[in-house]
Amino acid sequence: MNFREKYGEWGVILGATEGMGKSMAEAIAERGMSVVLVGRREEMLKELGKEISAKYGVEHKVVRADFAQDDSVDIVTEATKGLDMGFMSYVACSHQFGKVQDMPWEDHWRMMNVNVITFMKLMYHYLSIFAKQDRGAIINISSMTGITSSPYIAQYGAGKAYILKMTEAVAYECAKTNVDVLVITAGSTITPTWLKNQPGGPDGEKARREAMLPEDVIAEAIEELGKKRSIVAGEKNKAAVRHFLTNMTADEQAAMMGSYYEDH
Ligand code: NAP
Repeated sequence: MNFREKYGEWGVILGATEGMGKSMAEAIAERGMSVVLVGRREEMLKELGKEISAKYGVEHKVVRADFAQDDSVDIVTEATKGLDMGFMSYVACSHQFGKVQDMPWEDHWRMMNVNVITFMKLMYHYLSIFAKQDRGAIINISSMTGITSSPYIAQYGAGKAYILKMTEAVAYECAKTNVDVLVITAGSTITPTWLKNQPGGPDGEKARREAMLPEDVIAEAIEELGKKRSIVAGEKNKAAVRHFLTNMTADEQAAMMGSYYEDH
């Protein structure tokens, strides 16, 4: 499908530098859209932009912004002013392990800004444009940690639950319009950030064998856009979510996640 014809000329990837954001940028460029690449590491984004333009013959724009900072929303929205916007994807996240009360408040504030406040402000901005023109698409990324509660990574998990439920509701509100909205719940996916958090030895090897590739997660989201509103990536993750929601109480889910993080 040609996204440029269906949704518009430009898409903004909020957290595009590597991992799933990079795969998302490539997927929409492959479907004809020019890309606004947003993240903190400007040099890497410029390299990615050049690669994408050379490979897919689309334009690109790089925007340096840190979603933990209040000015990031203005920086991004200024940069896309006047462009024919038709797609947005919020990919960036911020996480930290530990007990809630043991983390400095500044760390909670950073995670809430990246995972909730900036997400919501930017979705509100682009959703308003897409609704007004009755054309556009949104794909947001949630996590299995937002399906169960997630002791020892609680702030992140709660933020991912916010993204999941907010996007599912918006997707339904848009269902009878020409704005397609989808949220994909990912499980372990081999991105640079995920790799940094894996244990060494056999446990790490097993985790890598079972994890998905970012391009496969994004391909599934792109394939289901406009057909479904909320999906779980991959067969293993789908089976796990079905099991959590049908066979386990909330207390059991929290205990399962809590003991996993206690052991790792
Ligand atoms: P990631 O590497 O942490 O983030 C993706 C991109 O976001 C990075 O390229 C990073 O680029 C940018 N970013 C991070 N913090 C930012 C900030 N404060 N301001 C602006 N940009 C920022 O994540 P990922 O592993 O690819 O995961 C992508 C999404 O999938 C996240 O929403 C995550 O919650 C979800 N997810 C991942 C997994 C997994 O196993 N990987 C599992 C479940 C869900 P810069 O460093 O250049 O800013």
